[in-house]
Amino acid sequence: MTMTSRSAAMFDAAKRVIPGGVNSPVRAFNSVGGTPRFIAEAHGPYLVDVDGNELVDLVCSWGPMLLGHAHPQVIEAVTTAAARGTSYGAPTQAETELVETIIERAPAEQLRLVNSGTEATMSVLRLARGVTGRDKIVKFAGCYHGHADSLLASAGSGLATLGIPGTPGVTAGTTADTIVLPYNDREAVTAAFAEHGADIAALITEASPGNMGVVPPAEGFNAFLAATAHEHGALFVSDEVMTGFRVTRSGYYGIDKVEPDLVTFGKVMGGGFPCAAFGGRAEYMAQLAPLGGVYQAGTLSGNPIAAAAGTTTLKLATEEVYAGIDKRAGELSSAVTEALSAAGVPHVLQHAGNMFSVFFTDAPAVPDYATAAAQDTTAYAAFFHAMLDAGVYLPPSAFEVWFLSAAHDDAAIDKVISALPAAARAAAQS
Ligand code: PMP
Repeated sequence: MTMTSRSAAMFDAAKRVIPGGVNSPVRAFNSVGGTPRFIAEAHGPYLVDVDGNELVDLVCSWGPMLLGHAHPQVIEAVTTAAARGTSYGAPTQAETELVETIIERAPAEQLRLVNSGTEATMSVLRLARGVTGRDKIVKFAGCYHGHADSLLASAGSGLATLGIPGTPGVTAGTTADTIVLPYNDREAVTAAFAEHGADIAALITEASPGNMGVVPPAEGFNAFLAATAHEHGALFVSDEVMTGFRVTRSGYYGIDKVEPDLVTFGKVMGGGFPCAAFGGRAEYMAQLAPLGGVYQAGTLSGNPIAAAAGTTTLKLATEEVYAGIDKRAGELSSAVTEALSAAGVPHVLQHAGNMFSVFFTDAPAVPDYATAAAQDTTAYAAFFHAMLDAGVYLPPSAFEVWFLSAAHDDAAIDKVISALPAAARAAAQS
């Protein structure tokens, strides 16, 4: 029996002072049940919880830890930067270096640094509206772009595509300018632009969605989106917060070369610190304050420690690093399919480069959110807890990506693979 009493006590204490005991909802294990593990430290591919259990980490802080935890060179860069002061509120060379490191490999001429993916998407849409002088935006159901109000819209019912608030606290007025469409549905996109084209500032999409599980774009879908937006004078915005520097050195753009007008990054580019960016064509970025009229700012934006961690991480992320992670992802995902098939568990495993996830479903494929949402989350919960008991930390939700790092070596992968058959049987019996 795994000891979890310290985690349980810390969770109780946390719940008294923090809503739900967590600072981001999915950490609370609400969708899989049970008590979240409180983490004491992490190294390489492992998390160590406060009861001393060592867990192979397949969450990697929801993507950022591409090199594994506490990479020695990243830690050295961070401690060197911290010793020089933690924030100045004035420009530094470190910010230019991080931005140069990014634009050398990704589709943007200029970037502005911010502190989270949410800030990046919120700011990029303000800029798109400022540039075009239009109000509406188009997004896809199941694509998550952070928790800015206008992006927390749900799809309207039936033929109505105008968004309705996805949460209390967001006004109907805000989401009335958000059009929510089914993913991978060209007809819905064509129809929405035919009806609202002259009012649409931007279409925003995850370069390859990972927030409903991995649902890659159908062949040519991103190119179709960019072309349709441009036909109507709207901007094509690619959200690479999750995929950026995760699936290739230049993000999903390295797999599917569709040039965005504007793009967002986060996660890996901050090396585990709160750091993100938005950017794109210089002519659009010139409309931001202080050059232009579109206001955007941040006390801690471009923080010197975050910039040091980000630049060091990206410079260490060589082609070999990605090749290694791709290979491991292939091995592991094959083993998952094998174990689930052997236990007779219906499932679909989908990839976008080295990102993958498993849907517990009878459907032949998962092209959109409606299909993803119909999966058997009870089976996932059983699978998740069997893996956790065996020392493997999977995402505590069926709708999330499994992330690997360059530090996931044979020992770590073997531990995951050997836990799979029993977890697959647990899913079969759920
Ligand atoms: N966009 C995408 C594609 C994301 O995956 C996320 C976070 N999972 C965000 C935006 C929001 O980023 P953050 O959590 O840093 O605000």
